Amino acid sequence: MKQLINVTRSSMPSFEEYCEEIKDLWDSHWLTNMGVKHKHLQSQLEEYLSVPNVVLYTNGHLALENVIAALDLPAGGEVITTPFTFVSTTHAIVRNGLIPVFCDINPTDYTIDVSKIEALITDKTVAIVPVHVYGNLCDVDAIDVIAKKHNLKVIYDAAHAFGVRYRGAGAASFGDASMLSFHATKVFNTIEGGAVCFADDALVANLNDRKNFGIRGPESCVYVGGNAKMSEFQAAMGICNLRHVDEEIAKRGKVVAQYRKLLSGVPGLTLCEDQPEVQPNYAYFPVVFDGYKYSRDQVFSRLKEEEIIARKYFYPLTNDFECYRDLPTAGAEKTPVAQFVADRVLTLPLYADLSLEDVSRICSVILE
Ligand SMILES: *Cc1c(COP(=O)(O)O)cnc(C)c1O
Repeated sequence: MKQLINVTRSSMPSFEEYCEEIKDLWDSHWLTNMGVKHKHLQSQLEEYLSVPNVVLYTNGHLALENVIAALDLPAGGEVITTPFTFVSTTHAIVRNGLIPVFCDINPTDYTIDVSKIEALITDKTVAIVPVHVYGNLCDVDAIDVIAKKHNLKVIYDAAHAFGVRYRGAGAASFGDASMLSFHATKVFNTIEGGAVCFADDALVANLNDRKNFGIRGPESCVYVGGNAKMSEFQAAMGICNLRHVDEEIAKRGKVVAQYRKLLSGVPGLTLCEDQPEVQPNYAYFPVVFDGYKYSRDQVFSRLKEEEIIARKYFYPLTNDFECYRDLPTAGAEKTPVAQFVADRVLTLPLYADLSLEDVSRICSVILE
């Protein structure tokens, strides 16, 4: 029997370690609403990520939605973003009453093409929401220059970039704020979870109130907020997983090295290169099938026959989804590089405990 190899597998501490961590919740009966675990994880993450402020959320999507709301951008404003992302990025913009304007990506690391941003800026542009795709860092220096010149806010979707560093600085320390996702499928997880990271201390109370219905005190409600609080059980999972995350990233690195050894130099396969001055987190292993003897879809199906689950990530583009197709700014043909990559990319199985033998088996199915 072939053993199923899924595209990812959630990191977990041992059962005993988690039980030990949640034990005192049976004494306190304090299960959510920013308790001890929540505070502990928050301060640990501020240190680990080298960012001045972390506000925790029950998931990454609501973190992004909340920080966009907190920056108080004028309704109907245009936000420059990319369609080569998870729908969450585009949804967070639109659900705030803002209009997504889709910029193309660059063909090297699949992040926003900074040379195409300025042509999209109008008098309605209020912000840029770039995505650190696969943990590849956007050109944060160029984006900073453009944003300052045009007085735009920058909010990074850093869902893929946990633990990535650039010239020693944490990946979540750029722009006005960054969103991280701690979903079960990400490099670091709190089961479901997420965070906003930022420097401006004035945002702390704003974000903390917004994730708790906009309530500031027992008799005060200052925002039309929702509920996006991280529970104590989620935070406890994060505290445990954080103890092992460096080791997990190192193991992912070995898996990636094995993939590169077996797949680089093969005609028709394009792999992502390491970025200069970036310490990577090995979150994903994308392969672009461009002129290979089989199409992306053929390889995807062939792997599936062997019980190996790869992912068409990201396909389709968000500017091609039913819910956005009718927007005047949508249309995949406006972002041809993103369309090209979305039609040809697969991310291969990657997680810390994936064995090097399994990596070899996956590669031999692709290469046979
Ligand atoms: C996972 C992800 C999100 C959403 O995060 P959740 O924690 O699942 O809500 C947003 N953007 C990108 C790029 C993601 O990969």
